[in-house]
Amino acid sequence: MPEGFPVPDISAAPLIGVLALQGDVREHVRALSGSGARAIPVRRPGELESVDGLVIPGGESTTLWRLAVSFDMLDPMRKMLSAGLPAFGSCAGMIMLADRLVDGAAGQQTFGGIDMTVRRNAFGRQVDSFESDIRLNGIAGPALRAVFIRAPWVEQAGADVEILGTDARADRIVAVRQGPLLATSFHPELTPDTRIHELFVDIVKGNT
Ligand code: GLN
Repeated sequence: MPEGFPVPDISAAPLIGVLALQGDVREHVRALSGSGARAIPVRRPGELESVDGLVIPGGESTTLWRLAVSFDMLDPMRKMLSAGLPAFGSCAGMIMLADRLVDGAAGQQTFGGIDMTVRRNAFGRQVDSFESDIRLNGIAGPALRAVFIRAPWVEQAGADVEILGTDARADRIVAVRQGPLLATSFHPELTPDTRIHELFVDIVKGNT
């Protein structure tokens, strides 16, 4: 390293992977890059081992599950999560982090990690997609604009799961945290507000 060249401070900008099998990967990469992290797409077990944290994007959980099986990522993901890799899942990503799933496709598996039961496509036909303002524990400032697209909700959460927020419409749990694992029913990657990604970056840094 030439003299005078700044040594990158990894702890100041952690490397966060975005699981890039399917879904809104680019949006998460952009939100993470604007939240003080370096972000890279992750498709292979070797790439997974190089990151300090991982985002599981919104998309379609049945496709994520099938591709995770084809890419030999199911077991490595489970191992990394149980070893303490911080992870944030939005929408389909929330489903993938659930220990238990209701209304999944036949045989549908998740990575698990959060002691919760998630109901897939929970909000029903009339309200397939909607936006609402929501307040979350641990997120200071004005309410967040939350975008729900065929969203799941958390039907039951274990004692170690911190409930961060519920939606105004159905009063269902839509944001949770268990240790280094964070999940939202909605898509913070689709709005310019980066406060949830900033919270995740803080979790990865061990600041909270
Ligand atoms: N309904 C989708 C699923 O089951 C999730 C939708 C989303 O991520 N926007 O995976």
